[in-house]
Amino acid sequence: MGFPKIHRAMLLKPAIEAHFSDVETVCVEEKMNGFNVRIVTVDGKIIAITRGGYVCPYSTERAQKFLDIDFFEEHPELVLHGEMVGPDNPYIPKKIYNVKSLELFVFDIRHKHTGIPLPLHERRQLAEEYGFTQVRLFGEFPKEEAPLRISEIIRELGKIEHEGVVIKDPMMEIAPLKYTCSQSNCADLKHAFKFYNDVGRDYLFSRVVREGFQAVEWKETGDDIDKRCLQLGRSILYPMIDSIINIGNGVRIADEVQMKVSSLETVSKFKEYLRRQGMEAIFSEPEVAGDEFIVKIRKLNKSTNDKTLSMWKGETW
Ligand code: ATP
Ligand code: MG
Repeated sequence: MGFPKIHRAMLLKPAIEAHFSDVETVCVEEKMNGFNVRIVTVDGKIIAITRGGYVCPYSTERAQKFLDIDFFEEHPELVLHGEMVGPDNPYIPKKIYNVKSLELFVFDIRHKHTGIPLPLHERRQLAEEYGFTQVRLFGEFPKEEAPLRISEIIRELGKIEHEGVVIKDPMMEIAPLKYTCSQSNCADLKHAFKFYNDVGRDYLFSRVVREGFQAVEWKETGDDIDKRCLQLGRSILYPMIDSIINIGNGVRIADEVQMKVSSLETVSKFKEYLRRQGMEAIFSEPEVAGDEFIVKIRKLNKSTNDKTLSMWKGETW
């Protein structure tokens, strides 16, 4: 079963009221910014599946190395869902989480064939029993109190550049909702506008719209709105200006990420995996790091490079 899409609250108060109308309380967990994996065992071996339904050779190697296989032997009917987070991350590298290399943070445990999730507290208890790292639970709040509490949590998370929260029905019968910090929206924009012609326009536009709704719900005026405008504008323009200048100077811009592997075979499998997804990337020679290897990857964002270069050559948009 795929991992279901989580809908976004644009205005916390009305969204929580309407969406969770049948429950008394909601649980608020941290939304971590990494990549989604589903972990299962097939023929007694742990495998990690990414969002598109691919078996990711890198996540699989990491999961086999770090996760307790007992969980899967004792609960073969369950799937572990989590976010792979940390700097040694070929998809979304982040240094903000105090994770040394790459770590799985469990946020869901579901039944394999139906996709039905365990109730939240039961899931957290089970994950704890097996020593899995979990996403942070901020608390369970009466529904009426939740919007205010969440806006406080979001302001604090924003200060440390964390992404946001997922709001959940404790029984997990109603689908969760997500809500993110302005700083995280802007961090996404900063990264995306560096590669402005490779990133989908919906991705960029939706992040700008979120800022409008949050400013209104938080009743911002004067200085606060100005601050938001400045932050938003800076996130869009500076990275784009850098890219235009760099490409004009003959530098090819690329997204630089890295992975840490135990086996070099994982690297060649991962190369093939990226290639099949249509991603052009250059892999560095492996560097020895203790008993493992670090491999740096330059993901070439061809469309932004080509488009910008053609502008420098006088072509029109
Ligand atoms: P989609 O919008 O299709 O769900 P996406 O990756 O664009 O996919 P995101 O905005 O990142 O969506 O939000 C959903 C993702 O958040 C989940 O797929 C999951 O990987 C991640 N996530 C991080 N922390 C949690 C959490 N505590 N509970 C649930 N999901 C979480
Ligand atoms: Mg995400």
